[in-house]
Amino acid sequence: MKFQPDNNGYYGQFGGAFIPELLYPNVKELEDNYIKIIESEEFQAEYKDLLQHYVGRPSPLYLAKRLSEKYGATIYLKREDLNHTGAHKVNNTIGQILIAKHLGKTKILAETGAGQHGVATATVCALMGLECVVFMGEIDIQRQAPNVARMKMLGAKVVPATSGSKTLKDATNEAIRYWIQHPDTYYLIGSVVGPHPYPDMVARLQAVISEEMKIQLKEQTGKENPDTIIACVGGGSNAAGAFYHYLEDEEVELIAVEAAGLGVNSGESAATSQLGEVGVIHGSKTILMQDEYGQIVEPYSISAGLDYPGVGPLHAYLHETKRATFMNATDKEALEAAYELTKIEGIIPALESAHALAVLPKMNLRKDQVVVVNLSGRGDKDLETYIKHLS
Ligand SMILES: *Cc1c(COP(=O)(O)O)cnc(C)c1O
Repeated sequence: MKFQPDNNGYYGQFGGAFIPELLYPNVKELEDNYIKIIESEEFQAEYKDLLQHYVGRPSPLYLAKRLSEKYGATIYLKREDLNHTGAHKVNNTIGQILIAKHLGKTKILAETGAGQHGVATATVCALMGLECVVFMGEIDIQRQAPNVARMKMLGAKVVPATSGSKTLKDATNEAIRYWIQHPDTYYLIGSVVGPHPYPDMVARLQAVISEEMKIQLKEQTGKENPDTIIACVGGGSNAAGAFYHYLEDEEVELIAVEAAGLGVNSGESAATSQLGEVGVIHGSKTILMQDEYGQIVEPYSISAGLDYPGVGPLHAYLHETKRATFMNATDKEALEAAYELTKIEGIIPALESAHALAVLPKMNLRKDQVVVVNLSGRGDKDLETYIKHLS
């Protein structure tokens, strides 16, 4: 299996676990147990039950007729926007909270940028009655007030990260520092990033997206495989989930869409595959945006969920091996795609998901081409941005 990590968590040259020695026992405990737990009957029963009755899965696979007509192809939307809490992130937090419980952990630690992962984590902690501490950059706390309010209402303790640029990377640094001081906590990572086994574990938990896609496509088209799958990439978890069961089917074209912000070369971008170089971030070797001294370059995108300076090691490998095609969309293109979907399908997408939709006009689609766009989340959280730019 070419696209599965080896025993040390490497996809080709990317991955691994670059962690302080003090965290080794925690990461090792997780590494030794995560597959056993995920594959156990007990976990699968609980996980599937919660996905069905709490999250509302399976999420629909919707044939978007008017969108298809517009682009001259057969376009399906995988409706992750209809999940409880409004995005795919909950697939992962439900899975990891169950893993934490199996490991006997009672305290959960997370970091968050825009607050979406923080809310998804606080939600499952409330559900399970577990203590929840979320680190968030001081600037992000100001920018994302509604999500901070949600986390607090859900019972989480939100701790401001006051170092550095006071954004996501600083929240991550401080969360890791906290983890070292409180090794009894479970660190719940929100994307296919971080030290091994997190990227593989999160990919396995998000894989439910493509597992369902296969069944739904078979029902609706008679074939399990689409021609093309398109997903946006921040850290890469919704894309990993949408690609997962198709990775080894090389005839299925995989398209990963990054945020180009004001333009790939504008200096205000988050198009990691175009701008990044090999380095270590968040405990794994991958590609990331860095300066000549290896310091992380602050990324930019209108969409908070894509505003991440790296991509997970699986995506670095998909890029290097050309298994996936990396495209990008600017702020403006994403906004236009969001307005378009809203007008012709009656669906307001998350700004992140709008980046995936925004490459449709850049592709040479055929009428009989079956395309699945992973609609990772709903746009309620982005209304303020949408209204501001609507004119
Ligand atoms: C967080 C988020 C993303 C980006 O994260 P990935 O790990 O790349 O999936 C994309 N879409 C939505 C709606 C999000 O909330």
